Formats: sequence, structure tokens, C-alpha cells
Amino acid sequence: MSEFAAQNWPFFLVILLGKIVALFLILRSRKRKRARQRRLTQPFREEEITLLDHNFPTWRKIPPDLRQKHAGFTRILAEEKSYEACGGLTEVTRDMRLTIAAQAALTLIGRDDHDFLPRLRSILVYPRGFRDPGRRAFGVNEEERGLLSGESWETGSVVLSWESVLLGGRDNDGGMNVVIHEFAHQLDQYNGVADGIPRLAERNDYTRWVEIMRREYDALVAATRTRDSEPWLDPYGATHPAEFFAVISEAFFVDPHGLKHEHQDLYVELREFYGLDPVRWEWEDLGK
Ligand SMILES: [Zn+2]
Repeated sequence: MSEFAAQNWPFFLVILLGKIVALFLILRSRKRKRARQRRLTQPFREEEITLLDHNFPTWRKIPPDLRQKHAGFTRILAEEKSYEACGGLTEVTRDMRLTIAAQAALTLIGRDDHDFLPRLRSILVYPRGFRDPGRRAFGVNEEERGLLSGESWETGSVVLSWESVLLGGRDNDGGMNVVIHEFAHQLDQYNGVADGIPRLAERNDYTRWVEIMRREYDALVAATRTRDSEPWLDPYGATHPAEFFAVISEAFFVDPHGLKHEHQDLYVELREFYGLDPVRWEWEDLGK
């Protein structure tokens, strides 16, 4: 060993370790990219189709040109996020993950930012309605309604009642869909703040968005205060602008014709935001 090398061996060791770490990171990133590509291109298998027909039949309405994207996004949300069984639930099975992810994917397939909610790390699943497990997303009085069916934390978690997931997935929850609701919150919370203003495509879009949302939110608040007639939108949307955005997102996917008929401006804003036009969706002819 030369005198130079003998004196500087710690330096060379650090360089070598740095190169090993860099190589490891490159290989891991390539492996992840390959896995993601596989998920994006793999269509639903027969048994998955049977499951979705049972738990989330609305998937049959997704236009053919978005079908593969929906399958791929579903697989990414089902396999790349962490699922935790809570409140006595023994396991979040693959079928449960798929049922949740297929509904959540609806909120993403029409949008350009394909980062798959990087802040969202875990999905906590309770067997049925639950008490707030500890953290609050923001200061709305969801607890006053008794047990919760879902929550969204800006710290990177969504909490769901499996019972409500199934009811909403089977379109049997009175126009509500807890998965759409909580994932809309996640889109809203992209910057750590739940204020009913998610990331819009263009800078210029914000002025119009805020103006329309504020006007419609104020109208819903006013409608819930007068007892003359029941508002078309879920009155829960009047508790906070963030809840308003989550509630109209549910209406957009669960009853798009109703939303367009009753609140055309909201429908148009959400059509732009979600990049989808569900009033045009039709049931696939299953030949049954
Ligand atoms: Zn909410």
C-alpha cells in the first residue's frame, strides 16, 4: 500500500460505502418501478371480477378506455399501501383490500397526478362503526353523530368501517360512500391542510373553485338552518368546507345525474377536478 493510500484509507472507505448504498438504492428503485409497471398492466383476474361484481358492481360502469387504468390503480392501492386490522378485526384480507382500493381508485383514474397519494401510508379497518381511535383530522363534530364510519388523518392514514365500505360499495348506503368520502379528504389534504381546496390543474382554477364552493357551501349551511325543505346534498356537508368537498365527491360518483341536475356548477367543477364525466357512464351489458 502506498503511503498516500495508507494515510487516506478512511476516505476511500467512505467513498466505497457511498457507492454501495447508491447502487442498492438504484436497484431497489428499479425493482419498485418494475413491480409498479406489472401492477399497472395486469387486468383483473376472474376471481377478482367475481368479487367486484359482488362488492362494488359500479366498476362495470367505468368506460372501456379507463378499465385497465382502474385495474392497475386498484392493484397499486391494494398492494402498495399498508392495511391494518383494528377493533377486533383479525385480518384485512386481500379481498377486503381489493374492495376498498377499487372504490378509492375511482378518485384517481381521471387525474393527471399519478403519485398515488404519497402522504397516505396506512388504511386502518374496523369491523363496523368505531369511536375516534385517538387522532383528529380536524375539528369537526363527527363524533356527535355517534359511531364513525370513516376518518382521514392528514398524518397519512385513512380509517374505515368495513361494514360501511360494503354498504357504500354495493350502493346501499343512502347515497353515501365512505371510501370516496375519505379519499376525497386525502386529496384535499395533499398539502397537510383540510380546507376543501385540493390541488387544481391550473393556477387560474382556484378563484373560480373558491367562489363556487363558497357560494354552494353557504347555501347548504343556510338550507340546513331553515326547516322548510330537506336539502338535496347531505347536510353533513354544512359542518365544514372540507366535509362539503367530501360530501359532493360522494354525490358525484354515487348519483352524478342527481348532482348535475341539482347543482350543475358543482358537477362541472368536480368533472374538471376528477377528470371524469360519470353521467355518461353506462352499465356494461352483461348479457344477463
Ligand atoms: Zn369527513
